[in-house]
This record gives sequence, structure tokens and C-alpha cells, in this order.
Amino acid sequence: MNEADSQDIAERAQRAGYTVVDRPHEAAILVINTCTVRDNAETRAYGRIGHLKMLKDANPGMRLVVTGCLAEQDRDRMQKIVPHVDAIFGTQELSQLGDAIAAWRSEFGEIDSEEAEERALLVPIGGSGDAVADAYSHLRAFVTVQRGCSYYCTFCIVPHVRGRFDHRPMTAVLAEVEQRLEQGAREITLVGQTVNAYRDPASGADFADLLSRVAELPGLERLTFLTSHPKDFTARIIRVLAAHPKINPRLHLPLQSGSNPVLRKMNRKYTVEEYRAKIEAFRASCSGWALTTDFVVGFPGESDDDFAATLASCREFGFAQAFSFVYSPRRGTPAARWEQLSPEIGAERLRALNHVVDEGLLAHNAAKIGTTVRALICGPSKKDRTKLAARALDNVNVIAPDTEGEARTPRPNEPWLDIRIEAAHRWGCSGTIVGRARHFDGPARAVAVPVLDLILA
Ligand code: SAM
Repeated sequence: MNEADSQDIAERAQRAGYTVVDRPHEAAILVINTCTVRDNAETRAYGRIGHLKMLKDANPGMRLVVTGCLAEQDRDRMQKIVPHVDAIFGTQELSQLGDAIAAWRSEFGEIDSEEAEERALLVPIGGSGDAVADAYSHLRAFVTVQRGCSYYCTFCIVPHVRGRFDHRPMTAVLAEVEQRLEQGAREITLVGQTVNAYRDPASGADFADLLSRVAELPGLERLTFLTSHPKDFTARIIRVLAAHPKINPRLHLPLQSGSNPVLRKMNRKYTVEEYRAKIEAFRASCSGWALTTDFVVGFPGESDDDFAATLASCREFGFAQAFSFVYSPRRGTPAARWEQLSPEIGAERLRALNHVVDEGLLAHNAAKIGTTVRALICGPSKKDRTKLAARALDNVNVIAPDTEGEARTPRPNEPWLDIRIEAAHRWGCSGTIVGRARHFDGPARAVAVPVLDLILA
């Protein structure tokens, strides 16, 4: 959701004549898009805002703007905690933020392209702005279909900082997808906090209808969606997933806990048995798809038996990946007022769960060894610029040596990499690029494999 919002902010700024840069000291305006889902996100955001005071002191003309869930939650106290912040915009004020950025532009004078390099705008995500505006960012488009959430899980801050469900008209979603396809998007991600609870305000059409309408749009290459709630994962949705080959073979369906008493206390609105029945129906129609999930451990009142049930569920469902978190009390949510488990218990349970998660994800990644996958390029690997990073259709990270010098000359016009997988890791797979294609269904141009690789193969 935050990535979708960051992309939106960057585009509003670009329309107002700014350029996105990836070094904070080059920026005329810095936008920090924040998250409050767990305490460490909040701490990191304040840490980063604090750090940027140095830049602000060195260049008082620079504008420092904070938006996102922390800005919404701490609207009143943020200005006191970090007084060097120039402006704060809540989660429902993206258009006001865009207007302010546009209005400030004249203060930075006429921006010719050279000057724009120096007086530009930065939207940092995880430390750099490249995820929102680099040579490859247009290939993946996040299209928001719904804002907020009305489910009020007892651990979750989202309804408190993003408000209740606000579904976007289907006509607007379809129009935006068409626009993204015209701009060269190869993969569309429909985004919402509980995306499969979607209802078109005009017609009452549900998420299955929306998904099939988007899947049938001419020019679409790949389609995916985030995040689904088990309660709203229906037989109709499963039928659409099975019927449309352009939908990526992956489903993210957060289970959170394998214990019914904990699920009840979390107000999750389903039981493990109901989750199992849905997964069985899904697997029967979508065989070979990657199933991924989220877990929260150390939730108030979680007993050893409850946690053992979570470990058992993790083994049973064979998740290709699971994002597991220690419960983090959030101000204003019911569970924050309940008796808490010790942080040590939470940390120990997270370690034990991650161990089981790793078994499943290594098995999933290892099954790719010896196959060639077609993966959408992300760009040079952040850890090693001599390698390219890409994502397979099931969202597995794939890394391969950059034999054609992409780091010097980005080539987003051939964004699909055919990668022969040679090894599996916790973080994904590694291999060799053997081909590149312009379109997912199109032919590949063969890429010369280094002679040494050919001998070893
Ligand atoms: N809307 C999705 C759902 O309800 O299934 C999940 C969206 S939430 C932003 C992403 C994940 O963060 C959740 O699935 C949950 O595992 C985790 N999370 C949310 N609140 C948390 C908290 N207070 N402490 C720890 N993890 C939390």
C-alpha cells in the first residue's frame, strides 16, 4: 500500500515538473512516507526524520514532508518531536500533498533539466527513491482498488490510521489499469488492505468480477493482487484464478495463527478448519501455485499449545513464504490493553517459526533448480551491481550475473529475463540469464552464456 502511495506521490511531483533523485542531499523536497504497523517501523521513521535534520540545517531551503500512517497517527505531536519537519499530510491527503508540492515549485525557480538534477524531489523507500522512479519502475504498476479496512483485527492499527473501507469505482480502476498498460506496465498489482473484500460502489460487483474484468483487458501481460483476507476468499474468486492464465500463480492469504482461540481473540473471523477448506478448494483448482502467508506470534494469551498449533499449520499448508512478526502493541487497539507476553517468549517463538518457514521456502525454491523461469527485471542487484535482480511469477527473487552491462545502460524494453536456475537460497534463487523478451508471451532473444558456464553446465 505504501509503495502504491509512494508511486502516486512521485507521479504527482513529476507532473508538477520535478525529477526524482536517489540521494537525499540532491533533493529540494524530501517526502518520507511512513508506516505504523509495528513499533520498529515507527522507530525507524522517527530515526530517519531525525537524521535528515543535518541536511535541513545545511540547506534550510529544502522542504521536509512527512506523510503516511505515522503522520496520521502522530499529527498533533510530530511537530513537537521533530520540529524541523515543514509539513505533515495524513493518509487521506495525498491530493493535498500533490497540490502543495506543485505550489512550491515556483519557489525553486525555473527548473531546466540540469538544474532539476540538483533541485529535485526524493521519495525514499527503504533508503532510496529508486523503487518509485527508476528505469524499471513503470514495468510494475500498483493500482489501488480500495483504501482503509473495516475489519478491526484487535492487533491492527490500519483501520485507526487509514479509516474504514473506501472502495474505488470499478470504472476508475479499469481506466487506471489501461493507462498503466499504455505506459508500458508489464505487471499490474491490484492493491488494498483487504483487497478481496472489494465492492464496486456503483454496481455492487465483487472482487471476482473486478479481477476477471482486469484480466481480460487487451495488452495485459501479468496480473496479481495484495492482500487477501481468508474470510472473503470465495469459490467465485478461485474460479477466476483458475480461468485466467494471466493471473500470477501466487496467493497471499494471511493465516496469522494456527490456533482457533487466538484467531478469535484477534477477531480474524475464520477458524483454522475454514482456512483449510478454502486452501483445499484453491489447491484443487490452482495446482502448483505458491501459497504465502503472514503470522503474528507472541499475541496476548498465546499459550505453548496455541503456538504449537501455529507450527503445525505452517508445516501442514506448505507455505512458499511466510512473513512472521512478533506481536507489537499498537496504541489505541484492544490487544494493546491486554496482559502481554514477555518479549523473550515472542523472540523465541519467532525463531522457532522461522525455522519451519525456511524448510517450506527452501523446498519451494529448490524445486526450480534445473528449470528456466521467465522473470520481470527489477534492475541491478542492490547488493552486487554486477548482477541483475528479477522476480519470478510466484514473486521469488531471482539473481543472475549481468553479462550485458545493464548497470551502465538500462534496457527496460526487454524486461523479461529467461533465467536458468542453478541454486536455491533463503532469499530466492540464483542462475544464468539465457534469454530476454519484450513481452511475457513473446519470443526470447538468446543471451550469450559465458563459456565457463557452458563448460560447467
Ligand atoms: N490486511 C491484511 C490482513 O488482515 O490479513 C494484512 C495487512 S497488515 C498491514 C500486514 C501484516 O502485518 C499482517 O498480516 C500481520 O501479520 C502484521 N501485523 C499487523 N499488525 C501487527 C502488530 N500489531 N504486530 C505484529 N504484526 C502485525
